[in-house]
Amino acid sequence: MFLNATQEQVRDMARAFADEVIRPVAESLDRDERFPSEIYDEMAKLGLFGIGVPENLGGPGFDTLTYAVVMEELGRGYSSIADQCGLVELISTLLVRHGTEEQQKLLPDFLSMKAKVAYCITEPEAGTDVSGIITTAVRDGAGWRLNGGKIWIHNAPVADYGFVLARTNKEAGNRGMSIFIVDLHAEGVTRGPKEHKMGQRASQVGALNFADVRLPSWALLGEENRGFHMMMSVLDKGRVGIAALAVGIGQAGLEAAVDYAGTRKQFGKQIAEFQGVQWLLADMAKDIEAARLLVYSAAMKLDRGEDATKACSMAKCFAGDMAVQRTSDAVQVFGGSGYIRGFEVERLYRDAKICQIYEGTNQIQRMIIARELMKKGARS
Ligand SMILES: Cc1cc2nc3c(=O)[nH]c(=O)nc-3n(C[C@H](O)[C@H](O)[C@H](O)COP(=O)(O)OP(=O)(O)OC[C@H]3O[C@@H](n4cnc5c(N)ncnc54)[C@H](O)[C@@H]3O)c2cc1C
Repeated sequence: MFLNATQEQVRDMARAFADEVIRPVAESLDRDERFPSEIYDEMAKLGLFGIGVPENLGGPGFDTLTYAVVMEELGRGYSSIADQCGLVELISTLLVRHGTEEQQKLLPDFLSMKAKVAYCITEPEAGTDVSGIITTAVRDGAGWRLNGGKIWIHNAPVADYGFVLARTNKEAGNRGMSIFIVDLHAEGVTRGPKEHKMGQRASQVGALNFADVRLPSWALLGEENRGFHMMMSVLDKGRVGIAALAVGIGQAGLEAAVDYAGTRKQFGKQIAEFQGVQWLLADMAKDIEAARLLVYSAAMKLDRGEDATKACSMAKCFAGDMAVQRTSDAVQVFGGSGYIRGFEVERLYRDAKICQIYEGTNQIQRMIIARELMKKGARS
């Protein structure tokens, strides 16, 4: 109803890939916390990285709604893998919008996963409050010298390039930060150990440290001191991606719960015949659909070039909360089995939790929604 023929075709391709390639290995990837290079290589061949990159820059040039349906399908397969797709999308959106011709030459390597990327904002004292970052870049001849460190960075243990937010003017607050494209194999870059996480365990997360790292002049992305604004401006799209991924997690939970309720018997009946179980399934289905529609609405606003900040925050907040609540319901439908490692719903519940935390916590999404309401009115 909302998707055109091309969007349906791309969705069906991503769904088939998730069913045939991702889902069968999701449990082992979670158990082994393994970076699945072979799956990313396949995805790159199918054009599933850099979905919004225009054709003249080597991408398929799809719109945000297409990106969202792909993220849902990959998230339904295994959200760690969708997360990689989201990360490449964020970085390529930055490069398409702000990169020079020379910088954009990196895109083919990012889209083919020949080079892995990291999006580096968070520091020990600067999480939600990005204005607290203390990583600095100071001019050094024609280039720059980078000092500081980042934590909890997706891909940090494996990445080749980091898009690093650093302070370039100590007095100017959010207007004193810039983004640098950092070669993570350069002298002075060190990596912390891989973090062991509750969920999305195939995603490699860790710290990056920069000790007097020399950056060439071309490393500055976009305008000096506009980095905060640039990073935040791509987060609207990022939030739609995370919201779609969360819908995918919820959908996988619903499918597993419906199958189980139709086969598990107690008191001589399928548990699906008990109203208590039916209500769990019904609540899951209605909230997943509501979240999906919020995702579509936000994506379509972005595609029409409308102000989509509130819509993107509503989608991210609702879908993230939904995924946690409704995968908990899926565990409930499974009873004790749902609490045991090896059952998909147990992993989905763990995987869902991060959707309330990264890409701006859900408290922050609520603050954004309220701020937009007060600024633009209740019908905005
Ligand atoms: C698995 C994982 C992957 C990540 N990937 C990346 C990445 O690739 N790149 C990157 O830069 N970062 C990444 N992060 C970091 C993530 O973005 C931060 O964890 C997140 O922004 C929250 O910051 P914090 O953890 O420091 O929490 P804090 O900011 O310390 O917040 C703690 C609590 O206080 C609440 N809070 C804070 N301020 C307010 C306020 N004003 N009003 C109401 N409540 C508030 C928060 O909502 C939260 O509940 C990742 C984190 C994880 C766990």
